[in-house]
Amino acid sequence: MQIAWAKHLGLAVLDALLPPQCLVCDQGVAAQGQLCAACFRGISFITAPFCQRCAVPMVHAGQAVAGVCARCVENPPNWNNARAAMRYDPNSRRLILPLKHADRTDLAAPLAQMMRRAGADILDQADLLVPVPLHPSRLRMRRYNQAGLLARALGHHTKLAVRLDALVRLRATSRLADLNAQQRASVVSHAVAPRRGAAADLAGRHVVLIDDVLTSGATAAACTSALLAAGAANVDVLVAARVPDPRLK
Ligand SMILES: [Zn+2]
Ligand SMILES: [Zn+2]
Repeated sequence: MQIAWAKHLGLAVLDALLPPQCLVCDQGVAAQGQLCAACFRGISFITAPFCQRCAVPMVHAGQAVAGVCARCVENPPNWNNARAAMRYDPNSRRLILPLKHADRTDLAAPLAQMMRRAGADILDQADLLVPVPLHPSRLRMRRYNQAGLLARALGHHTKLAVRLDALVRLRATSRLADLNAQQRASVVSHAVAPRRGAAADLAGRHVVLIDDVLTSGATAAACTSALLAAGAANVDVLVAARVPDPRLK
């Protein structure tokens, strides 16, 4: 209790000493954890119309059949619905990459707030949040799993249960960035499994899988397979950012 108090007081003192700065630039803002007006304008939040299944933004509703894009009609993902807060582009990258690679763990809370708004309908139906896992070797290198931080922050905001270790990476997959969709799918398809004993928590539950970026969907599909194999009743996907056209990747 005393420690929590001291920490609270410490943060308050720090706030008073350092004027709050925009999350991505050095512009002053009203409160800690905000974007300045210019950076906020630069973010492309994903609003309707977007594909219900894969969260890809669409130019007009006519591109969808019952809210689903042509690609998902032809080749539906194994999860149910997906939501994304913003397009993955040079502006949103300035929020996402520092969380992933530059120890900016403070970005998890504001990103989780954006994800909470974008995913309100699927979070309403959810029992449990599960992050996409990192392989232990990568976790050692990075010291934290950015998807885990987002899941924990979302759990804090929504009061939903979070199982950080429900899934495990069975092998380190090489960097996926340089691979096309088909190569990604074959690399990750058997790389994720439910942790031993996790089935008790997952059976019959509505799970929301949490990640920072949804690109080809290969990793999310591998995680979904593992969750369904462990008995999850439903899997939805919620990410901070969506690559608008995964085929271009
Ligand atoms: Zn700014
Ligand atoms: Zn789609």
